[in-house]
Amino acid sequence: MSAQTLPLPLPLGACVKCGRIALSEQVLGGRCANPLSDGPCVGYYRASTGAGDWLLCPSCHGNGLFNNYRCAHCDGSGWLYARPQFP
Ligand SMILES: [Zn+2]
Ligand SMILES: [Zn+2]
Repeated sequence: MSAQTLPLPLPLGACVKCGRIALSEQVLGGRCANPLSDGPCVGYYRASTGAGDWLLCPSCHGNGLFNNYRCAHCDGSGWLYARPQFP
């Protein structure tokens, strides 16, 4: 049994606007500020732990690694936020 093949635990939350994943509990409720093409994201991180809120990352199959590097698609979390709310 290899831990590498198991999906990582669900993330704590994500930005409601761009879907960027919250990598620590401290950022929940705070501004996202993800640098987007038209400036820093104005969304905020919301706690989101429902299984339906997340999609297994198709690039790394949920283990956060792509060719042994941190997966850029999901920021190494293994998951993609399924419900970003675009304005
Ligand atoms: Zn954002
Ligand atoms: Zn990934």
